[in-house]
Amino acid sequence: MRIILLGAPGSGKGTQGDLLEKRTGFPRISTGDLLRLAVRRKTPLGLRAEAFMVQGLLVSDEVVEGLVRERIAEADCRVGYILDGFPRTIAQAEALAAMDGGRPEIVIGIEVDSEILIERLCGRRVCPACQAVYNVSVQSPARPGVCDACGRGLVQRPDDTAEVIRKRIAVYLEQTAPLKDYYRRKNEFRAVDGQGPTEEIAAAIARILDGTPAGTTAETAEDGRKDRRSPA
Ligand code: ADP
Ligand code: ZN
Repeated sequence: MRIILLGAPGSGKGTQGDLLEKRTGFPRISTGDLLRLAVRRKTPLGLRAEAFMVQGLLVSDEVVEGLVRERIAEADCRVGYILDGFPRTIAQAEALAAMDGGRPEIVIGIEVDSEILIERLCGRRVCPACQAVYNVSVQSPARPGVCDACGRGLVQRPDDTAEVIRKRIAVYLEQTAPLKDYYRRKNEFRAVDGQGPTEEIAAAIARILDGTPAGTTAETAEDGRKDRRSPA
């Protein structure tokens, strides 16, 4: 089983991906997180990727495809995995199908209006130590500017400035949004409204997954009940 979370920057892929990881036991794989880790470690790949990331541009397909190929080869991905931030181009989708094609796959599109995306991303704060994510308005820490989990001062991601946010949304509309039709044609795409409370969005995603032929849990992913119809 493979669950792909598709949505604009700030649509809540990370939040929903974490919840899905807990619910299904499948690991969440975020290419953004993998790239930021490489940047922090100053690996050659990280140093190359950073220049694109701070401008809101996509890192090259080859680089992210390599990261994903290595990660999904690990043992914890055998039964299933959740992709957050990949694929982001049609070429990446085709590379994914070529590297791991046989799995049942469901693509969840999280839909959020652009103005709300900008508001969420401008208000996002992250912990540089433990990577916890907050928002100054909707998910604020107990003490302003301080991580609840580890006490470090929160910072803004370098690509969460107004100008770079606009660029990232434009790149999403141009290069990533066409994946919705790509997966619609494969009859794998399901959309959810990403604007309600977190729990309601998680429940909507759970309903979609429960309706898919292969189910969402490790048990049902393995029993392969392919005769069950998915909802229209
Ligand atoms: P967001 O979804 O909020 O933009 P991510 O953490 O998913 O943030 O990604 C941050 C940045 O990492 C992107 O703007 C891009 O530069 C790079 N990136 C992440 N995933 C990919 C990908 N699949 N292909 C190319 N670049 C990527
Ligand atoms: Zn922290």
